[in-house]
Amino acid sequence: MFKRIPGTKDILPEEVSRWQQIERIAHRIFTIYNYQEIRFPILEEASLFNRSLGNYSEVVQKQMFLTRSGKDIYALRPEGTASVARAYIENNLDKIKGLLKVYYIGPMFRLERPQKGRLRQFHHIGCEVIGSQDSSLDAEIISLADALLNSFSINDYQIHLNSLGCKKDKHLLAQIIQNGLKDKLDRLCADCKRRFKVNILRILDCKNKDCQETIKQLEIQDKHLCLGCKTDFEELKENLRLLKIDYQINPYLVRGLDYYTGMVFEITHKRLGSQDALGAGGRYDNLIEELGGHSTPAVGFAFGVERLLLVSNFIPYNLESKKLIYIITLDKEAKKLGLELMNNLRKKGFCVDTDYEGKTLKGAMRKANDLKASFVIIIGEDELKKGVFTLRDMLSGGQKQLNKEQLIQELNLGIGLKQQSAKNATYSYLR
Ligand code: AMP
Repeated sequence: MFKRIPGTKDILPEEVSRWQQIERIAHRIFTIYNYQEIRFPILEEASLFNRSLGNYSEVVQKQMFLTRSGKDIYALRPEGTASVARAYIENNLDKIKGLLKVYYIGPMFRLERPQKGRLRQFHHIGCEVIGSQDSSLDAEIISLADALLNSFSINDYQIHLNSLGCKKDKHLLAQIIQNGLKDKLDRLCADCKRRFKVNILRILDCKNKDCQETIKQLEIQDKHLCLGCKTDFEELKENLRLLKIDYQINPYLVRGLDYYTGMVFEITHKRLGSQDALGAGGRYDNLIEELGGHSTPAVGFAFGVERLLLVSNFIPYNLESKKLIYIITLDKEAKKLGLELMNNLRKKGFCVDTDYEGKTLKGAMRKANDLKASFVIIIGEDELKKGVFTLRDMLSGGQKQLNKEQLIQELNLGIGLKQQSAKNATYSYLR
């Protein structure tokens, strides 16, 4: 028997309504903030991610799903920012759009050791704004993340905030860490000893207790920030206070990817356990230029949908609240008539199904019950002879025999749906 690849999930029909709901809310909130949806390929050139996230980032070092096609190496996208940046440059969106505000929803892939909240195929809801350095945009991004969480009925999350500063400041931060730790390497874990050589900022967010103790003594705070970056960060904090968004300053928050500069943030939730990040983001003012575009500042974030669903308290709308009509036919002749009637009713926009399992009347009635059908239409020998249909209201249990016109009239009344095209009708059911 075949099994799912570890770290992947089947989203079964019962669960899909929660996914649809979260996606629907996301579309609505992004629209309110005037973001447009973007869809980009799941496959990209692997070097796009090496260049963007950094050769020594954990994702590039250990987590890329790679495949070769001749000389080319492709990767299943591990995140969305690099692809959006690539699409921005490739499609000349700087000239066409000016400021670009986009969002995306879709699967991402990382070759992880699977555990709770850590999958190999997971889903991001993310957004990117390319083309402005305005620090009030940083506030908009965080307030958008906050609005999404509120709309997903998620409470008790914490927003952690830091500023890495511009390229020069980041360099200075790396130097401060290097000078502070070079005589204390023996106190660091094996990973941090390696990070010291290749990805020194990552030492700051190491989870190892001894590393954390050693790092605390460096008293990082904001001494690496230049005046411009300090002012931007102060403005952001002021704006967040104005917007009544709670946050905690965390000078040890660095994020694992090379492209981040300036403000970075992470949103955590205690109920998630060890993998506690619901989402994260920040500025990446140098990435577009790094990838061959003009120097263009940008900012964005992404949430992990699986983790959102683990902590969200919403009760899914019952998309199944559509009113089902279930047709039961009792012989071959009736089956033909049933097929025609079903087609007819579906064209009028009714939601109709029938028995395909050769059930007896009793079995088919039980099935209609299980499906929570509102009405059952029975076509048997008697009905065929009289040229009528038996309509049973499943709520009241009432039953009557009707001709076709009467039947449609009754269904219109009972289901409260005007005769309209199937397309509109489906829409009105689902709205
Ligand atoms: P990142 O791009 O690593 O900042 O990820 C953004 C968000 O995506 C995280 O905060 C998680 O919610 C989610 N995420 C990242 N990696 C995984 C994973 N392997 N499995 C499930 N969710 C993930």
